Amino acid sequence: MTLHGEGAIPADLARRFAAFIDDRIAQAPLGRTLPPSVMMPLLDGVITAEGLGADAAWNRFVDHVSPNNVGLDSERYLAFIPVSPSAAGVWMDAAVSAATYSAESWLEAAGVVAAENQTLRWLADVFGMPASAGGCFMSGGSIGNLSALAVAREQMGERRSVAVADTAHASVFNSLRMLGLTREPGHEMIVVQTGDDGRFTGAALAAAVEGRTDIGLVVAAAGSTNAGVVDDLAGLADVAERLGAWFHVDGAYGAAGALLPELRHLYDGLGRADSMIVDPHKWLFAPEGSCALLYKQPDLAAAVHTQHGPYIDILHGDEPLWNPSDYGYQLTRRASGLPLWFALAVHGTDAHADAIRRGIELTRLAAERLSAIEEVSLVMPPQLGVLLFRRAGWGRAEWGAWAHRVLSEGIAFVAPSTWKGEPVGRLVFLHPRTPESVIDEIAATLA
Ligand SMILES: *Cc1c(COP(=O)(O)O)cnc(C)c1O
Repeated sequence: MTLHGEGAIPADLARRFAAFIDDRIAQAPLGRTLPPSVMMPLLDGVITAEGLGADAAWNRFVDHVSPNNVGLDSERYLAFIPVSPSAAGVWMDAAVSAATYSAESWLEAAGVVAAENQTLRWLADVFGMPASAGGCFMSGGSIGNLSALAVAREQMGERRSVAVADTAHASVFNSLRMLGLTREPGHEMIVVQTGDDGRFTGAALAAAVEGRTDIGLVVAAAGSTNAGVVDDLAGLADVAERLGAWFHVDGAYGAAGALLPELRHLYDGLGRADSMIVDPHKWLFAPEGSCALLYKQPDLAAAVHTQHGPYIDILHGDEPLWNPSDYGYQLTRRASGLPLWFALAVHGTDAHADAIRRGIELTRLAAERLSAIEEVSLVMPPQLGVLLFRRAGWGRAEWGAWAHRVLSEGIAFVAPSTWKGEPVGRLVFLHPRTPESVIDEIAATLA
């Protein structure tokens, strides 16, 4: 008996795996999730000294593990931020698993690092970043933000305070806290309150920090997660520059919108970021587990993140080579940029832009359709793929019941949200194949 090599897994099981992937690509189920009291007993007895054998183990997976999850990749998943991986991306991700590329270093993985860097270069050009820009792919936006803000912290010098909007993602606040930038003596975190449009502007920042000389870091969003609003990046870049502060842009969800010429104006100023992130697993249709992290001056990041030690110093030989692990807090690293690289190679950048555009069209259709309902009003007109709306007379309980009803009728997976303290409805359109009929079905639940 062996874990490895030909025959370790019966050929028939390998075929079932391939069929599973094919089915998932054809149509991802809306899925469901279970309470722990029901879920845990389903897995009783799976892990044994002798093993269950291929058939029984596979059955436990297909009968009990896989079905009890919500399908983020479903065309009817309209909650949080959906994940809608391209078929090319899914298959390349499977190949990445099989091949175990050592994507942390050029020494071991020149091919993969070159392909990922080609993708990063393309992104940097889309965002208008300079020729010097570079970075790495990581596993997600949270670790990307943490890695970038750790570099920012080293560059803050005597200016130890931070300015961030009330709309910033939770991972930004967590990162600042872990880096000691929220509550250590001499560090102040200024949370700038946005107005009704949810947009963090240069004017609001200037007013909030007037007369201060201690601001060393400004964090903006290229697409806030809750409302999908791109901040006033050009105005914020101006003020950050005047303050001598590091300018970080969190574009995990929304920076991909910069691919669309008709939206490009929203992103003016993005190219001036000292650091920025975008998650390919969100609006660039890569499989889960991918963040692109870019710096204007990557050498500043290398000074923070390069790992040293007797067994790894050889990665940094005499010839300077590009090691992704020098640019983020991760050593062993899955080649999480390769699925996007491959999908771009297969379909081209226009097809990706078209897929993003479809999400925006669906959001606008939903905005029109829902605002025509007498009891419904939009919190704001949508900029990207997120729609926030009110329903007359509905509070937290009603919104909770609504989400439950929409799921139990098989219409969609939705999650209500809060806007400036008020419970509201929220929909996110990202999957380009979401049928328009879903919008009518949802509208019917609100009338
Ligand atoms: C999703 C998101 C994150 C966190 O990214 P993960 O990949 O989930 O870790 C950070 N910032 C913004 C704006 C996001 O939308």
